[in-house]
Amino acid sequence: MYKDCLIIGGGISGLIAAKTLHHQGISVTILDKGRGIGGRLATRRLNYGNSQEGVIDYGAPHFTAQSPTFQNMLQEWLELGLVKVWSTGFNRDNKTYYCGVENNRAIAKYLARDLDVHTSTRVTRLEWRNTHWQVDTETGTTFTGTKLLLTPPLPQTLALLDNSNILIKPEIREKLSQVSYHPCIAVLALFSQPNLIPAPGGLRLEGNPLKWIICNHQKGISPSGYGVTMYASPEYSQSHWDSNDEIIVQDLLNSAATWLNSAILTYQVHRWRYSQAKEVYGEPYLAITKPGTLVLAGDGFLDSHLEGAVLSGLAAANYLLVSPS
Ligand SMILES: Cc1cc2nc3c(=O)[nH]c(=O)nc-3n(C[C@H](O)[C@H](O)[C@H](O)COP(=O)(O)OP(=O)(O)OC[C@H]3O[C@@H](n4cnc5c(N)ncnc54)[C@H](O)[C@@H]3O)c2cc1C
Repeated sequence: MYKDCLIIGGGISGLIAAKTLHHQGISVTILDKGRGIGGRLATRRLNYGNSQEGVIDYGAPHFTAQSPTFQNMLQEWLELGLVKVWSTGFNRDNKTYYCGVENNRAIAKYLARDLDVHTSTRVTRLEWRNTHWQVDTETGTTFTGTKLLLTPPLPQTLALLDNSNILIKPEIREKLSQVSYHPCIAVLALFSQPNLIPAPGGLRLEGNPLKWIICNHQKGISPSGYGVTMYASPEYSQSHWDSNDEIIVQDLLNSAATWLNSAILTYQVHRWRYSQAKEVYGEPYLAITKPGTLVLAGDGFLDSHLEGAVLSGLAAANYLLVSPS
């Protein structure tokens, strides 16, 4: 059996793949350009003075589980106290919505705890060197691995492949390039007082400019501060991508005024160029065998939700376990 695998991307897809390979005795190294692990499972702390702290999920606010595979995984996470049921229905859709008990990034941190993870490590080039992959990074450090798994959003994966002169069949490349993503601007804000967002602390508006508003205090992850996440619609995010943060914050505050009850203390704006795919590739992963084994996975493949990313990462790892070196 081969010994090692490099994984680019420490979002949930890369982490699930890494854990699966690690359990089978494969030595795994994860490289991620982000400062922290988790990708779009993202959480940040906002502080105001010494007393007020908001803990704010600003990527996926929650997730569902439809498949028995992910339901079993979730059962384990529920028993560990890693995740909890947040709500049994937003907008009366009767689905069970889960979130991290501490916060959503904590799920990624838990999965990463026994793994070799390098954050702040942007991969710039991939090269097959007869027996192994060599991966160059922005920091100048080079990593090697017998097999390679790429899990960034597909436009970023394609840019990396192009930059590395790795050729894939034109019809497959065309299909991959059709996977495009909605942008999403998220405003993370800390308020001085409780808000009027109805229980359980999430309101899906599907409006423009405000698509979603979340109270992280009611959600249970921000006990000592009133941290709110406001997600702009794809249309607004597209048209205001280059607008000043002040303008974006003011627009979303105006739109959310009915549910906000106090002064904003501090805020940050995060621009997700790739939040969720409009359409997906339609298969769990893509395996390329020449010049060496290279697998593409992530939420652009099956379904652009957390569950889709998990199932894609799992399927990619199962392929990597049996594919020839
Ligand atoms: C605003 C928002 C709302 C969402 N809402 C929901 C929801 O309600 N329910 C739900 O289920 N899902 C939701 N999602 C989607 C969910 O978060 C994603 O489907 C899932 O987290 C994707 O995981 P992934 O591992 O495929 O990708 P990612 O989490 O994006 O991980 C890919 C990683 O690759 C890294 N990377 C990229 N390029 C490089 C490079 N060159 N070198 C090194 N590292 C690199 C990135 O830093 C990133 O960490 C939402 C996402 C966003 C952003």
